[in-house]
Amino acid sequence: MVDKTSRRSSWFLTAALVALISFICGAVASHAGAAGGGLSPTGKPRVSDATCMSRCVATHKATPGATVKLTGTYLDETKQVVFKASTGVIAAEYSKRESNLVEVKVPAGAASGNPYVVSEGGVSSNPSPHTLEVLPPSSIPKQVFPIRGPYEIWAGLGDGRGHEGADIGASCKTPLVAVGAGKVKVAKYHYRAGNYAVIDLNGSNLDLAYMHMIEPAGVKVGQRVSAGQVIGYVGETGNASGCHLHFEVWEGGYFEGGSPIDPLAFLKPLEPKRVKRAR
Ligand SMILES: [Zn+2]
Repeated sequence: MVDKTSRRSSWFLTAALVALISFICGAVASHAGAAGGGLSPTGKPRVSDATCMSRCVATHKATPGATVKLTGTYLDETKQVVFKASTGVIAAEYSKRESNLVEVKVPAGAASGNPYVVSEGGVSSNPSPHTLEVLPPSSIPKQVFPIRGPYEIWAGLGDGRGHEGADIGASCKTPLVAVGAGKVKVAKYHYRAGNYAVIDLNGSNLDLAYMHMIEPAGVKVGQRVSAGQVIGYVGETGNASGCHLHFEVWEGGYFEGGSPIDPLAFLKPLEPKRVKRAR
């Protein structure tokens, strides 16, 4: 395996800087909130992005009924998320909220625009800086590349060491998405695979395995997923050196009499155009 230590430490430095900057900004916003005379130390909600989690066409392209994640600050008192509609706006209740994120289902009638949140106290956030397109469900692609972000292919099947999959390097926390619609067969931890999930592929006898996730997979055994649905995030849990996805394609069942086939031949046609690791 190639040593990825320098890559990792530069990532940590960036993360530390971002954390420091958001701490400083947070302190300022919190002070401003207190000066406003409110009893709550909460600041004004701020949205930094809105990305699609399931029923997606792409990162910033959702469909009606899609789950969208808004990230930002002071989002834990969100009451509603407001979307643009063909005339005016349409609001939807959150399905999950934390200080840094809100999840919401895109309501029927929502149109492409820049969603924002409204707090329980009636305070509106800024509109999300990146436009979220809302497209018809027929726009959802059949199959997509499993990593949503810059990546680099490190190794394929065999690799002179009996490697059973492909290693694709990407920054830790890059979203991992289901390649195609299917049903989750495995979602657990293994000392070599780390946090991993195995998801079958509808209409085939293939099982796809996604390994070394940073946290346990965000899907449960038996759950049905759509192509492009976020199932976890790139990590290096288990026997991994450097953040990467270890991806396997099994014909005939994962450890159920099947055998791994060349995942790169499978992935090549799914590679997004002109997206390469920026370094
Ligand atoms: Zn591997």
